[in-house]
Amino acid sequence: MIDHSTIERILDAAQIVDVVQEYVPLKRRGVNLLGLCPFHNEKTPSFTVSPTKGIFKCFGCGKGGNSVNFIMEHEHLSYPEALKHLAKKYHIEIEEKELTQEDLEKQNERESLLVLTAYAGRQFTENLLHSDEGISVGMTYFKERGFRQDTLKKFDLGYSLEKRDAFSKKATEDGYRQEFLIKTGLSIQHEDRIFDRFSGRVMFPIHSLSGQILGFGGRILKTDAKTAKYLNSPESDIYHKSKIVYGIYQARKAITQNDKCYLVEGYTDVLSVHEAGIENVVASSGTSLTQEQVRLIKRFTQNITILYDGDAAGIKASIRGIDIILEEGMNVKIVLLPPGEDPDSYSKKVSYEEFLKYLKQNETDFIRFKTQLLLSEAQSDPVRRADLIRDIVKSIAVIPETITRTVYIKECSNLMEVSEPVLYNEVNKLRQQKSFQDRNRYPGLEDLPVQKITVPVKQVAHETGSFYSEKEIIRLLLKYGSEVFERIINPEDGKEKVTTIADYIVDEIVSDELTFENQTFAKIFSDYRFHVEQGLFPGDKHFVRHQDPDISSVSADLLSDSHQLSDIWKTKQTYIETETMLLKAIVPDTVLKFKSDKLKNEMKKLLRQIEEASKVNDNERIVTLQKKYSLISKAINRISKNLGDRIIL
Ligand code: ATP
Ligand code: MN
Repeated sequence: MIDHSTIERILDAAQIVDVVQEYVPLKRRGVNLLGLCPFHNEKTPSFTVSPTKGIFKCFGCGKGGNSVNFIMEHEHLSYPEALKHLAKKYHIEIEEKELTQEDLEKQNERESLLVLTAYAGRQFTENLLHSDEGISVGMTYFKERGFRQDTLKKFDLGYSLEKRDAFSKKATEDGYRQEFLIKTGLSIQHEDRIFDRFSGRVMFPIHSLSGQILGFGGRILKTDAKTAKYLNSPESDIYHKSKIVYGIYQARKAITQNDKCYLVEGYTDVLSVHEAGIENVVASSGTSLTQEQVRLIKRFTQNITILYDGDAAGIKASIRGIDIILEEGMNVKIVLLPPGEDPDSYSKKVSYEEFLKYLKQNETDFIRFKTQLLLSEAQSDPVRRADLIRDIVKSIAVIPETITRTVYIKECSNLMEVSEPVLYNEVNKLRQQKSFQDRNRYPGLEDLPVQKITVPVKQVAHETGSFYSEKEIIRLLLKYGSEVFERIINPEDGKEKVTTIADYIVDEIVSDELTFENQTFAKIFSDYRFHVEQGLFPGDKHFVRHQDPDISSVSADLLSDSHQLSDIWKTKQTYIETETMLLKAIVPDTVLKFKSDKLKNEMKKLLRQIEEASKVNDNERIVTLQKKYSLISKAINRISKNLGDRIIL
């Protein structure tokens, strides 16, 4: 934990212009500075930095936030990592609190292990490049495989000498402790001696996101060897194979730029594909794909393309990976290579253009992939055809977003010639059975009742309704909270009572017990309310500099000029001159719109309840619910009238 005052000092030191300018050339434009956005490709600059507000904002891709948010986004760091990065740069000593003795020891130990793996990496490359054995054995092998020098360097490839304890001995002489040699798995203890795990192997270091060496893979070169072709570091405090993908450090920039990540089987596939000019490629090395690996990739893109050989094992591995990727709400495509080829061999065989063309032309979504794969054998056999449909439906059911599921159901329906309602029915059944525990992670939508599935998309569009009015409320609070909403003179004592916009909004929302569905808006509101109820006004800096990075980046976004005129009001520009002038009208209308959205959500809930009650013929309950429904519907009508034609509800 970094304490609050340290965070403040870091934010004071890390001025936004200074921080951004290190990565992006900026030109002054009025009070702001302007440059080309580093987060998406653009030719005309839409990336602005406001020194006075201490924030950046891109009007092209929408990213925005304070200096810490910028570093998080640009360097792909977590919040504490980004703070530490800035602290180091501005020479601010970090006082971390609440670390127990045990934590400290763990941290020291992890650092010791990392120091050792870095040393080992240097030793192995040194062997490969400069020792006689390394050159004649290791380097010859890499050359025969056709790897270029720059690739060897980029991936820090190396060689571990054949002598059974060459590395362990050297490391011990250089002062590295045996305890750590064993904990990293570089050495193995046998009775009272230690030996090298990887002797006589070419070495593939496995890097963390920030380039530290966590572990190694080693390939044996002797063909007659009795041990496994590939050996990997064992699990340790620094290496968890299920949490890392091979090549992510070298691929991360290209993944972001191409908004896609290719997934291959192992080390040499990554190297070859990379060398062929496709640098957004990683491997799940030595395990079948895990959820954590998929989430790691998800930090850079929503799109994964699995690239495996077309043999039975490759196909099986692809199929296993598909559902894990779908479950994370990501898009998955599959490319199978021609028979007998793996990414390594095929990328070497054809030119870059041909390779890329093959990938583009043979990329299929998972439904087509499964269908093509299995349909040929199932064509005339109704039982197997049904199995295939069930199989596809299972994959569709794990997708968290309703809209995506809907699209895939359509496709499956076309391809398999099964009606959509039947497929919906199956998907819904499966989802209910599995009672998707993770569902809450996706504040999405409940599946629609089977009877209504003919118009699913339309229904979906309605349910997201309150997001914009929630956003609008928070924006008004942050931007204009301290301004005067009204002044009332008390006729008895002639004293003036001033209500601020913050007072008005907070009171309206609290007294009607309304809540925010969006988590970040909810957090901002409760923080805001806490201040207002103590008679304080939290300035916008409080939120832009908030410890919670969700809050700081959303606030920065809302405070930037892109929201000068709200979406709701944009269409009515004719009679809006400045927002401030019209606050008196905008604020109550926005509150009303917010309330009406909440009521609409309530109506939807009631509809579902009525539906359920009618399934079990609970007429009493139906009548009660319908009464409620009609009350709410009247209330919404009243609100609409109140709002007149100024806002389209
Ligand atoms: P060969 O020269 O016999 O083709 P290879 O080194 O290319 O050997 P393959 O058996 O073709 O290895 O393996 C396919 C892919 O899987 C390669 O990218 C390889 O690096 C990787 N691989 C194989 N075993 C492992 C393992 N245990 N851990 C990680 N990656 C592995
Ligand atoms: Mn191979």
